[in-house]
Order: sequence, then structure tokens, then C-alpha cells
Amino acid sequence: MLNVAETCVGTRALGPGMRSAVWVQGCPFRCPGCLAPEWIPDRPARAVAPADLAAELLADPRVTGLTFSGGEPMEQAAGLAEVARLARRDRSGLTLICFTGYRLERLRSRPPGDGVAALLAEADVLIDGLYVAARDDDRGLRGSSNQRVHHLTGRLRDAAEVLATGPRKIEIRVRAGAALYVGVPSRALAAAYPPVARGDGRDAMTVPGALAGGAGEGSAR
Ligand code: SF4
Repeated sequence: MLNVAETCVGTRALGPGMRSAVWVQGCPFRCPGCLAPEWIPDRPARAVAPADLAAELLADPRVTGLTFSGGEPMEQAAGLAEVARLARRDRSGLTLICFTGYRLERLRSRPPGDGVAALLAEADVLIDGLYVAARDDDRGLRGSSNQRVHHLTGRLRDAAEVLATGPRKIEIRVRAGAALYVGVPSRALAAAYPPVARGDGRDAMTVPGALAGGAGEGSAR
């Protein structure tokens, strides 16, 4: 089972085309400026089987790609690799972008858990490295300029410039009185809605809700 913090079915803010995004719960890093601190603790969130999550992400027939973020996707690599495999079985041509706070070299030489090689084998693009607020240059799908956009296959090569240095997009989804910000936010937006400590030992995003991006980029990395 996967431990999922949030999903968004059908967004144009997290990579080329219409995509569905998953943010997993739990991250071993503590990047200052992480905009999704409530997704850092390794605690139970929503338990979902890979087959159910794959079906959920494909509920919109316009979806042509998936984006995995968090939290730290590599901590749940085996389950996410299975989600990608099942989704691709049901929809041909699906592309996969995956964020991670780990460096690609580390993932290959000393994978932090089961399934890392399988997830890397599914990913078309891996955006790696921790989020460094001082190097947030307001450009690209990566949150800061130290993060690298690796094209592990040729499927999203034509979007290389957009992914690395293109303009950022944010979509706002209103759900049950809170707002989910989907995408990598500009520095100005992130400053306007900083995460706050709730005071109960768990961090949470301030009103109007969660600010989710690509792995810590504004969210996970
Ligand atoms: S920015 Fe990403 S890698 Fe860093 S603490 Fe947040 S979720 Fe983890």
C-alpha cells in the first residue's frame, strides 16, 4: 500500500500536457523553505493500493502524463513504480516525471529502499536534489537552480527547456473549504502564503490550504 498525502487528477501546472499528480506522505529531508512541511512526517495519511491509485489518476481521459512528488517518492519507490506500470498498461504513451531530494548518482549507487531501480526505469524525467531557497530563481519546474532535470528517456526531450527554465504555473483547487495550490510557486507567491506551525507538533500550511508543488520545490525538494 502507498501512503499518499494528496492527489490531483488533471493539471497543466506540473509538466507538459494534462497530467495527474501524486504527493506521497513522508520525507527524510528538512529543506528550509519547504512549502509542504505537513507532508514531511512519516505518519499514516491515505493508504491506497497501487491499482486503485493508477485507476484514480487515469479518471480523466485527457491525462497523458503522471507526476510523482511529495514528500519523498523514493521512500515509496516500489509502490509508485507499480502505479506507473499499471497506468501505462491502461494508457499507452503516458509520460512520467518524478521529483526526488536524492541525487541520481546516489539513487543508482546506494538506493535508499526497495524499488528505486524500478521507479527510475519507469521515469522519463527525474528532477533531483534538495530545495535551496537561496537558489530559487523563479524558473522552471525545478524549485531551485541546484536541482537538475534528467531526461532518462527521450519522451519529454522536446519539453527540456520548459522543464528547466520555463515560466512557472500554479493552479488553485478549492476543496472542502481549503485550497490546494498545484505547481511550483513563484517566490512571491510562496512568500505570500508561508507555511506555519500549528503548535501541536505538526506543521501545516496556512490558510488558504496546502501549497503543493514538485517534490519540495515549493513543496517537496
Ligand atoms: S522540499 Fe522536498 S525534499 Fe525538501 S523537505 Fe520538502 S518535501 Fe522533502
